[in-house]
Amino acid sequence: MAPFEQVPVCWVCGGASFVAVHEAIFELSIYGEQDPELAAYSGARVTLQRCRACGFAQPAALPALPRYFDRMYDQRWADDWIAGEHDAAYKDRIFADILASLGNRVTGGRALLDVGAHAGRFLRLARAAGWNAEGLELNPKTAAYAAQRSGAPVHQGNIHTFTPAGCYDAVTLTDVLEHVPRPLEVLTRARTYICPGGWLAIKVPNGPAQRVKETLRAHLRPSYRATLADNLVHVNHFSAASLARALSAAGFRDVTVMAAAPELPGDGATGRLSHLGRLSAYRVARTLPGGAASPLAFNLQAYGRRD
Ligand SMILES: [Zn+2]
Repeated sequence: MAPFEQVPVCWVCGGASFVAVHEAIFELSIYGEQDPELAAYSGARVTLQRCRACGFAQPAALPALPRYFDRMYDQRWADDWIAGEHDAAYKDRIFADILASLGNRVTGGRALLDVGAHAGRFLRLARAAGWNAEGLELNPKTAAYAAQRSGAPVHQGNIHTFTPAGCYDAVTLTDVLEHVPRPLEVLTRARTYICPGGWLAIKVPNGPAQRVKETLRAHLRPSYRATLADNLVHVNHFSAASLARALSAAGFRDVTVMAAAPELPGDGATGRLSHLGRLSAYRVARTLPGGAASPLAFNLQAYGRRD
């Protein structure tokens, strides 16, 4: 049996009382040749549990395998898949929203660091919008591709290893914070990258809303199994309140959390119908008072300022 370590306290508030909300399954047999120790976790299960004090949900235990997450993300992406990710527009509404919100907030320079730069589409859009953007990306192959296509410097590494030469007026964590255990460490580290008066922007899935959606899907289609955290790809599950609390605990000021724009994948008639549904839910969640805490906010965005 592959080894696990218990996670006894809440990563956001330190609370130690939890309610089980989901069971995550491990299926990593695809790594059988590349990383047999990682593949050995296939078949294991771990409980996802919600902190009674702050509403944040996290696994009851983590794989004890050293560098489990780095090893799982060490995917040897095919060249055409990476190119497709750079060219795909399904996250453009999210990117545009973040760039506009940062443009309104940042009053100093225009130096921006995108943590988890992936294939570099956001970097390219940020540069086109006048930001002096750089990336930080763990995967060497996507890092190189992102630099080539965006023209931006892309540092290869992660938030724990990277030390910038100067500071940034804006740091972005788009679809990153849900993937890294102990998110307060990530936020505290990201804060050190930001110039005084600069801003952090975050986009994450809304944990409670995703649970409602997945449970509903499983009810409607009995063959469908709710997937929220398989392989612990999503290790942090924020609610609007616990995300705000995490930012404040990491030392950020003027913290705002709101519904984030949806991803709009696919096209054709089915795609357009799905887009319409996602956009309608987003608009209601964005305009309704307290909408970020509602099940219509499938994603959250948050901003916090460094003093
Ligand atoms: Zn908590």
